[in-house]
Amino acid sequence: MKKSASAAPDTPAPSFSSLGLDPRLVEALTGLGYEEPTEIQAQAIPVLLSGRDLVGQAATGTGKTAAFALPLLQQLAASDRKRGAPGALILVPTRELAMQVAEAVHRYGRALGITALPIYGGASMDGQLRSLKRGVDVVVATPGRALDHLQRKTLKLDSLAVVVLDEADEMMDMGFAEDLEAILAATPSSRQTVLFSATLAPRVVAIAGKYLRDPVRVTIAHAPRPASEAPQVRQEAYIVARAHKIAALGRVLDVEQPASAMIFCRTRTEVDELTEKLSARGLRASSLHGGHNQQQRDRVMAAFRGRSTELLVATDVAARGLDVKHVSHVINYDVPAAAESYVHRIGRTGRAGREGVAITFAEPREHRLLRNIEAEIRQKITVKPVPTLADMRTRRLEALQSRLRDTIIEGNLDSVRVVVESLAEEYDIMDVAAAAVRQLMTGDDADTVEEIPSGIPTASGKASSGKVRREVSGTRERVFIGGGRKLKIRPGDIVGAIVTHTQLDARSLGTITILDRHSLIDVPADSAQMVVDAVGKFGIKGKKLTVRRDSKHR
Ligand code: AMP
Repeated sequence: MKKSASAAPDTPAPSFSSLGLDPRLVEALTGLGYEEPTEIQAQAIPVLLSGRDLVGQAATGTGKTAAFALPLLQQLAASDRKRGAPGALILVPTRELAMQVAEAVHRYGRALGITALPIYGGASMDGQLRSLKRGVDVVVATPGRALDHLQRKTLKLDSLAVVVLDEADEMMDMGFAEDLEAILAATPSSRQTVLFSATLAPRVVAIAGKYLRDPVRVTIAHAPRPASEAPQVRQEAYIVARAHKIAALGRVLDVEQPASAMIFCRTRTEVDELTEKLSARGLRASSLHGGHNQQQRDRVMAAFRGRSTELLVATDVAARGLDVKHVSHVINYDVPAAAESYVHRIGRTGRAGREGVAITFAEPREHRLLRNIEAEIRQKITVKPVPTLADMRTRRLEALQSRLRDTIIEGNLDSVRVVVESLAEEYDIMDVAAAAVRQLMTGDDADTVEEIPSGIPTASGKASSGKVRREVSGTRERVFIGGGRKLKIRPGDIVGAIVTHTQLDARSLGTITILDRHSLIDVPADSAQMVVDAVGKFGIKGKKLTVRRDSKHR
């Protein structure tokens, strides 16, 4: 096997179009918020476009699906094969992966008019038979079910141009070796064959040796770096399903209380969404990605340096070359696709002898990628349970205790001492103090249950009256937004949209009224037009709405 040269870590990554991809595919990727190829993509795509066979060593989370799917789509679009019979077959170990990969192929290939179909065991044969009969370009299948269809002659493999074995080691471990061989034997010998595997176990190497022709080998595993090169920071990870990530991040931020954090996401879309969600929770977050112009970047960076934003949500591309000396926390909202990128990201914390914290959120299936990173940097990343409500309560009690201690030391309590003295005549002084602490905690607890920190109104409870009052001084002007309860718009959504797309702070916003078909918000008068422009342009929760200054309330 020939090994392709792996890119030097510090050379700038190539763009998708420089890899030779069709402009329509590049456009689809831009639309998905991808800013640049991952390492495995940069290495594999040109090789696959040249028609060579390939063995790729890459785990889930590295971007391997796009690495094999994009060239395959391009090839199918360019060929004049007869439509209907599958031109590519992707074999995967599990039904979940079949669905996921088919979905990815569909998303990338939509612009080229290429269709994909997942077929897997456990689902009804009828639906799959109908779809196969209608004709499909890419079949994504588990080996058992693919063989089943092959034997019934409902899956025709004689037009295949490409065969992909995805997660080959898993397929071997699951006992699919014979099925794979039977399927491969039924494919045209002119096919291009691609094999991806997290490990190159002997059985994987054997099947590659038998069915791949002079393959190029690409791997993203670098030689382990000396431990001394990696920064010394507290490194932790949380394993959470995607659906619970935002809630988990909220709790972790609450427990960690970062002074300044950089939060990394994979795509522009994720950066925007996360910034909006964090802002809606009353956190001061700004976004930074390749879609922003220099002026926007400068503004965001000035706010971050000046500490008026404590959370900077960014893509790798946008964060590269940023002159941020030190942040208290680096948070990987997704596991970075390669160890290099992990090291680069966490290098922004723990500088100059200060304590740094690096926190990574991984989905259960990305566990292996996390372990690979750990092995490469030769440092431990401790997996921790997500803080429970009880943990948060404890932390808040501790914080309250320290606030009370400060208040006692500060003195100046004469004006309130009289309340304590009068209560102490009736009750035990310890009970009086405990009741005061309970009172202070009640407010905190309510925030925890709603999972939205103080300062931001929530829909539940308060919204039933349709009105949320906030403390704002200065001249205000009312802004009309053409959507309300019927569109499930909540106060937090409006605040989130405004703080994400303008320089305004959540605290500067005034009363919000949510009615069935429209909403009103009071904003500082000199910012009213900016709010109208920004919310008009970006919409709320992805919906474009009419937004205007409310002439009656100037
Ligand atoms: P995979 O390793 O194929 O399971 O991909 C992991 C995740 O990375 C998926 O959610 C992809 O949508 C995403 N992804 C793949 N390539 C890129 C890229 N170049 N930039 C940003 N995200 C990507």
